Amino acid sequence: LSDKLAAAFKKLKSKGRLNEDDIKVAMREVRLALLEADVNYKVVKDFVKDVSARAVGADVLESLTPAQQVIKIVNEELCRLMGSENARINIPSKPPCIIMMCGLQGSGKTTHSAKLAKHFRSQGHRPLLVACDVYRPAAIDQLKVVGAKAEAPVFELGQIDPVQIAQKAVAHAKDHGNDIVILDTAGRLHIDEELMNELKNIKSAVSPNEILLVVDSMTGQDAVNVAQSFDETLGIDGVILTKLDGDTRGGAALSVLAVTGKPVKFAGIGEKLEDLEPFHPERMASRILGMGDVLTLIEKAQTTIDEKKTGEMMNKLKESSFDMNDLLDYMSQIKKMGPLKQLVNMIPGVSGKIKDEDIDDRQMVRLEAMITSMTKAERENPKIINPSRKRRIAMGSGTKVEDVNRLLKQFEMMQKMMKQFGGKGGKKKRRRGFP
Ligand code: GDP
Ligand code: MG
Repeated sequence: LSDKLAAAFKKLKSKGRLNEDDIKVAMREVRLALLEADVNYKVVKDFVKDVSARAVGADVLESLTPAQQVIKIVNEELCRLMGSENARINIPSKPPCIIMMCGLQGSGKTTHSAKLAKHFRSQGHRPLLVACDVYRPAAIDQLKVVGAKAEAPVFELGQIDPVQIAQKAVAHAKDHGNDIVILDTAGRLHIDEELMNELKNIKSAVSPNEILLVVDSMTGQDAVNVAQSFDETLGIDGVILTKLDGDTRGGAALSVLAVTGKPVKFAGIGEKLEDLEPFHPERMASRILGMGDVLTLIEKAQTTIDEKKTGEMMNKLKESSFDMNDLLDYMSQIKKMGPLKQLVNMIPGVSGKIKDEDIDDRQMVRLEAMITSMTKAERENPKIINPSRKRRIAMGSGTKVEDVNRLLKQFEMMQKMMKQFGGKGGKKKRRRGFP
């Protein structure tokens, strides 16, 4: 515990500003994490350079180490890069809204066409799915199967020219009151000119409102080339990142966004039609950084522990006026950060090393119950808690007298330690009757 207190005192001191060495050290870790997450090496290089330049001279928050501060900036930049103001599908006032799905074979176009259809149906729209992948009869059947699951009609004309299919589908939608048309196009294993030409022709024939690039998040370094080709040839409006339910670390997301600058509009998180969600830049950023959940921990510590309160508490510690009320306050601040077990596991290198019984949230609850069962006078001056008071507190909090004893003992030890800290030169008020 004294280590923790010492650390807490240290945090109260100002840390100054980030220098180039701090940044270099932290960036080494960031670079590795990004490469490990399969972010394209060129994207990594540029990103690290940009963020390093931005970080020099930044203030180090009192509660963070310089390395943590750098990582915090990195995280903010990642979120900025991946987030977007308008990551929704823009549905024009004049129907139908034409959405063209494109991407490599197996990226999830057909599945996500149906997911989108289901999503739009739930919002009261009347989507029409269109089978523009005509190279294998099985592709048309697959769209029919998932279309039925999404309860959306499927327009198909067999294996004829996809440009014609797209045009006829749009006419069909107008006649049948379908306000959204989703074109499920063909893919290839690799980018090729024939495919790109076909997609270009569909585009110029029906002028889609949205061209969405479907990207498998497991795609590694190659994602950059794929995204670049599709964007240069077709001009995409957004990205659907699929298969995020796997163990991918999602480097593809960053690569794609860095080269196209287009927002991720949806995330696919499973094979079922309901496995579609809006994209969460913050989650993706920490997934890509993959540093335990350090980021979450930093954010949590920052937002929940009110710095001013912490400062007040430390002053009280120094003055030895720290009482049970302050302890209660302190515990409720800790509690705001979430379950202890979760917090502890977020610290890299710690998870798994601490036994579960050592971080028992119920213990906190018990402590709280005991303190709240004390009277005002008892909280301010625990010395007055005699055996009959102990029995009353134990009864009131559903604990045993031994528990109350233990709390009082621990509290006394804490106070002793605090006096040592506050000792030299500190104002020792002792106004509440402690020796
Ligand atoms: P397409 O060739 O681009 O049309 O890709 P498909 O839609 O046929 O999907 C290819 C495979 O990926 C299928 O087996 C899908 O079930 C699977 N799939 C698609 N999206 C997801 C996803 O978000 N998560 C998982 N786990 N599998 C997916
Ligand atoms: Mg398909």
